[in-house]
Amino acid sequence: ELAQRMSERAVDVVKFFMKQGQIMKPGDVIDADTAELVASEFGHTVKRVAESDIEEGLFNIPDREEDLVSRPPVVTIMGHVDHGKTSLLDAIRNAHVQSGEAGGITQHIGAYQVEKNGQQITFIDTPGHAAFTAMRARGAQSTDIAVLVVAADDSVMPQTVESINHARAAGVPIIVAINKVDKHEANPQKVRTQLLQHEIVVEEMGGETLDVEVSAKTGAGIDKLLEAILLQAEILDLKANPDRTAEGVVIEARLDKGRGPVATVLVQTGTLLPGEILVAGNEWGRVRALVNDRGEQVKEAPPAMPVEVLGLQGTPQAGDRFAIVNNEARAREITEYRQRLARDKAVAKHAGQRGSLEQMMSQLQQAGTKEFPLIIKGDVQGSIEAIDAALEKLGNDEVRARIVHSGAGAITESDVTLAETSGAAIIGFNVRANAQARQAAEQADIEIRYYNIIYNLVDDVKAAMSGMLSPER
Ligand code: GDP
Repeated sequence: ELAQRMSERAVDVVKFFMKQGQIMKPGDVIDADTAELVASEFGHTVKRVAESDIEEGLFNIPDREEDLVSRPPVVTIMGHVDHGKTSLLDAIRNAHVQSGEAGGITQHIGAYQVEKNGQQITFIDTPGHAAFTAMRARGAQSTDIAVLVVAADDSVMPQTVESINHARAAGVPIIVAINKVDKHEANPQKVRTQLLQHEIVVEEMGGETLDVEVSAKTGAGIDKLLEAILLQAEILDLKANPDRTAEGVVIEARLDKGRGPVATVLVQTGTLLPGEILVAGNEWGRVRALVNDRGEQVKEAPPAMPVEVLGLQGTPQAGDRFAIVNNEARAREITEYRQRLARDKAVAKHAGQRGSLEQMMSQLQQAGTKEFPLIIKGDVQGSIEAIDAALEKLGNDEVRARIVHSGAGAITESDVTLAETSGAAIIGFNVRANAQARQAAEQADIEIRYYNIIYNLVDDVKAAMSGMLSPER
């Protein structure tokens, strides 16, 4: 790498080392001082750059207020399984293919746009909060509005509550879509009442949350839902500057047999153009083509538009942020730096560094945080309520437990992603984590503690809160 940076032949660098009595082969690691010595021996001027400078100026280029214009809202649909998330996404898309495009072939690229009253709305096409939170866990906030689907022939269910908590943790406003109102056993009023228990107060009940009765099956209410989304978007006053280089987030990415790496990105600000050099996560590439959600090549992608990007050298990960750089050397420098960081992190993890309640607590203290976020999963609702109540009582003026989410059932991957984004520890009472959750927790360094006696659980949390947790039990 050093040879390459100096535009010298690797063999010459190796020879240089040999003259110094050192046997080196390409790929061996040398420290910065040695590198500097070699570089000056070869007649190059060395400029030391801090690692942290490498990404300097890549993201969050400030915009002037007067350059900002309105942009479409980005919407994620969340809710309990079988309440109709996928059906609703399909119904919206089929009913509202952009004007003049009726009958056009739709491509599933991970997100799509529809037009309503001359305005665009972007939908993330992967239903559920797993995708939503996974993205947030990677530092990308991709959603402006969450549509919470609740089936009117069912009731508020565990994943409904999870979705509410995920949206809240992200500070994203919720619009309630009461679905399946075509069914004769539908009871929308019951849904509204149940939501009250979770502090979702819809307009009819005197609150501020918009709610719409819909049927993904008949298409009833879908126009109203879109209007509600536009209304909410107006309140949010979403803006971006289209006249600058693009920044955004990767929605999904895959290796296509014919086209190579294909990433669907959501442009969040700026305008993405073919020919530009894009860096996303550990990968980069020169944009060969941009393809929209109808499979057509487009000349540009303005804010809130999802497009497939062709021309990347590898597949980035969903949730990776992307930006545009001036030249290939910069793109290489950034991605090589990130790959190195990722390797170092993997090595460190392997060395068995584990987060613990104590470490977490002291980090929180250093950060001046007064709340101890927890996710509680238990076997039955009764015990969870007892734990919640006991933990509520624990706090004092300085610090208190904050329950980000609690529910009955095994610890799932979704709990882990929520823990990651909210900085919470996970507590399992008479339940275990499933395999995916264990793996995700391992990767993200999230602590999961198991208990079967409420007293012990409360005692540990209490001890952690006072910074005196006894060593591993
Ligand atoms: P998801 O798991 O939330 O994505 O739910 P799906 O979209 O897969 O829907 C679950 C089931 O409910 C499917 O059998 C759908 O056909 C049905 N369904 C969804 N929306 C409606 C609706 O508005 N009315 C009726 N009658 N059935 C619906």
